[in-house]
Amino acid sequence: MRKELLKTVKRVVIKIGSRVLTDANGALDMAVIGRICDEFAALRKKGLEVIVVSSGAIAAGRSELGLTDKPRTIPHKQAAAAVGQTRLMHAYELSLAPHNLKVAQVLLTSEDLGSRQRFLNARATLNALLGFGIIPIINENDTVVVDEIKFGDNDNLSALVTNVAEAHLLLILTDIDGFYSADPHSDPDARLIPLIRGVTREVEKAAGASGSAVGTGGMSTKVAAAKKAGRNGVATIMVSGKNKRIIVEALQGAEVGTLFLPSGTGLNRRKHWIAYTLKPSGRIVVDDGARMALLKKGKSLLPSGVVRVEGKFGRGACIRLCGLDGVEFARGLTDYSSAESLSIAGYKSTEIEKILGYYYGDVVIHRDNLVLL
Ligand code: GLU
Repeated sequence: MRKELLKTVKRVVIKIGSRVLTDANGALDMAVIGRICDEFAALRKKGLEVIVVSSGAIAAGRSELGLTDKPRTIPHKQAAAAVGQTRLMHAYELSLAPHNLKVAQVLLTSEDLGSRQRFLNARATLNALLGFGIIPIINENDTVVVDEIKFGDNDNLSALVTNVAEAHLLLILTDIDGFYSADPHSDPDARLIPLIRGVTREVEKAAGASGSAVGTGGMSTKVAAAKKAGRNGVATIMVSGKNKRIIVEALQGAEVGTLFLPSGTGLNRRKHWIAYTLKPSGRIVVDDGARMALLKKGKSLLPSGVVRVEGKFGRGACIRLCGLDGVEFARGLTDYSSAESLSIAGYKSTEIEKILGYYYGDVVIHRDNLVLL
C-alpha cells in the first residue's frame, strides 16, 4: 500500500528536527547534514521536488556563542537563532554544492502565513524556487517573532508548509524510529506502530503519554502535524533521521517508521488555511440549535444562535465557535466585529439593520468561511 501511495508523490516536505542535525555537544553535525544532503540529491535525481523545513538554528547559534545551556530568555534565543541560522544555511550549502544543488533560505512567521495575500505570495515564491531547481530551506524567523505569535514548533510549521507548497507528502525526521504504543525509553513492551489510519483522540492521547522525541516539540506536536497535514489530504511519514538512507527508503515505500494516512474528507486549501494557519482572535458561543444547524445541516451562523461573544475582533477575523459546553467545534471568518456581533446576538437577521444602522448580510459567519473541526 505504501508503494502505491508513494508513486503519487512528486513534491515532498521534509522536516528535520534539531536533535537530528546536532551532535552530543549540540553543535551542527556535518556528517549527518552531509548524509541527508546526499539523500536530497538522490531524490532530485528521481525527479522529486524537495522542500525542507529545518530546525537547528538555535542549537547552532548556542554552540557558536559558547553558551553551555539552552538559552532561556527570549532575547538570548533570538540572538542564538540569528547567529545559528547562517551557520545552518552554510552547512546545507556546503553539503549540496558537490551535487550541484543550490539552496534558498525562506524564513516565515505565522503573521506572514496568516495574511491570505502573503500566504499566496509565499506559495508563488516556493513554486518559482522549485522551478529553478533550488531546494528551499524553511525555518521560522525566530529572531523577530515573540511567543504569542509563534508557530510554536517546526512540526506545526511543516504541516502548514504542505498546504502553502501544495505538497503531496510530509516526511518528519526525528530522533525516534516512529510512533510507539508507549514510551520505548521506559517501557520494554512499547511497540512501533507502522500504520495509523487517521489521527483519532486515542492516538492523540497516546502521543501525549509517550513523550519520546526531544526538541521543541515532542510526540504530540508530531501527531498534531500529521493530523493537520491529513486534513489537507496529505499523508505523513515519521522516521528516525539518525538511520542511514532512511529518506530514500521511506520515499520508495519501505516499511519504515510510521505512516499516518489522512482521514475523513480533506479540506480545500482555503478552508485548511482558515482552520489551521490563522490564529483565532475570539470566541463565539452558540446555542444547541445553531450548533446542530452548523454541524448537521450545512448552515451558516445566524445572529439568532449567538449566545456569547468573547474577545475583541474586527470584521473578517478568525473565530472559534463553541457550544454551550465550551467545546470548540468549528472555526470561521466573521462578517461582523465583536462589538457588532454582541449587539445583534440573539436577534433575527431581519433586525440587524435596525440595530446597527447598517447591514453586511444575514449571517455572522457564512458557510463558505466556516470549517467544522
Ligand atoms: N526554529 C527553531 C530553530 O531553528 C526550532 C523550532 C523547532 O524545532 O520546533 O532552532
